Amino acid sequence: MVSGLQPSGRPHIGNYFGAMKQFVDLQNDYDCYIFIADLHALTKIQNAKELSDNIVNLAIDYLAIGLDPTKVTLYKQSDTPEVTELGWIFNCLTTMPYLMRAHAFKDAEAKNKEINVGMFNYPMLMAADILLYDPDVVPIGLDQKQHVEIARDTAEKFNRIFGEVFKLPEPLILKNVQTVPGTDGQKMSKSYNNTIPLFAEDDEIRKAVMSIVTDSSSDTPTNVKDIHSLFKNTEEIEKLYSENKGKYQILKEALATDLISFITPLREKRKGWENRKDDVLKILKEGGKRARERAEAKMQIVREKIGVKLY
Ligand code: AMP
Repeated sequence: MVSGLQPSGRPHIGNYFGAMKQFVDLQNDYDCYIFIADLHALTKIQNAKELSDNIVNLAIDYLAIGLDPTKVTLYKQSDTPEVTELGWIFNCLTTMPYLMRAHAFKDAEAKNKEINVGMFNYPMLMAADILLYDPDVVPIGLDQKQHVEIARDTAEKFNRIFGEVFKLPEPLILKNVQTVPGTDGQKMSKSYNNTIPLFAEDDEIRKAVMSIVTDSSSDTPTNVKDIHSLFKNTEEIEKLYSENKGKYQILKEALATDLISFITPLREKRKGWENRKDDVLKILKEGGKRARERAEAKMQIVREKIGVKLY
């Protein structure tokens, strides 16, 4: 299993329920490679201190949610420079019109954003991140589905041209989660400023919950209910929301209470890891070494197949 997150700031409950929770739940069942996508983050963050702080923070986040470094290879992407080599090879096989059909590019274009080449090529580096490790599955949120499909297409194209080298991975998307909505009802995303951070303090949680947008023309605050469904089963949710029709304040308070009980133990665990930065860096360094050995072995085959390996 391979997956990762960008070190682009504090993770939110959308990242957790869409992707991170699956990493923890599956760590006993798969040989797991979980990475910090620092080279991807460079498309947005061009400040050395900010990027390195974010990398360490994300490593701490991973450990705080319960990833066990004795089971999981936890590493940062830039410790496996083979991904950029493979990403380049994929760039040479892929056409511009194909990449222009990617949702992420189309969204950026629609917003008239002047995107950099790294952002445009993002799916090729992501294909390399995945295919280097021959995973069976890639746990992700729904928004990344197309990128895994692009990785599959890229693997097929390479295999067709140069011979069978890459396994086709399956995306693993939880049916009942798919897309976690933010406080404004859109997809929860750092770039929309609508997040509930995964390790938020109590006051921050209450403030975020109170800011959830509600529609006064309905008895049910849908945006509150959708987030609440992550913490209670369907029966409990239906009971709570039918008994409190129109009582937005009570329902928001109930959600804040559930969020606080869920987040408090995670936040405490995180504080424990914050005091062990040397251990965190050691874990990351060792993970990087392990991942790189595997990446390098795979690249030997790739180099031979494309014809650049002469000795
Ligand atoms: P990112 O670091 O933003 O690329 O996202 C890391 C992971 O979190 C990816 O697998 C995303 O699909 C997942 N993710 C991000 N936002 C959400 C959301 N609102 N709902 C579900 N999954 C999400």
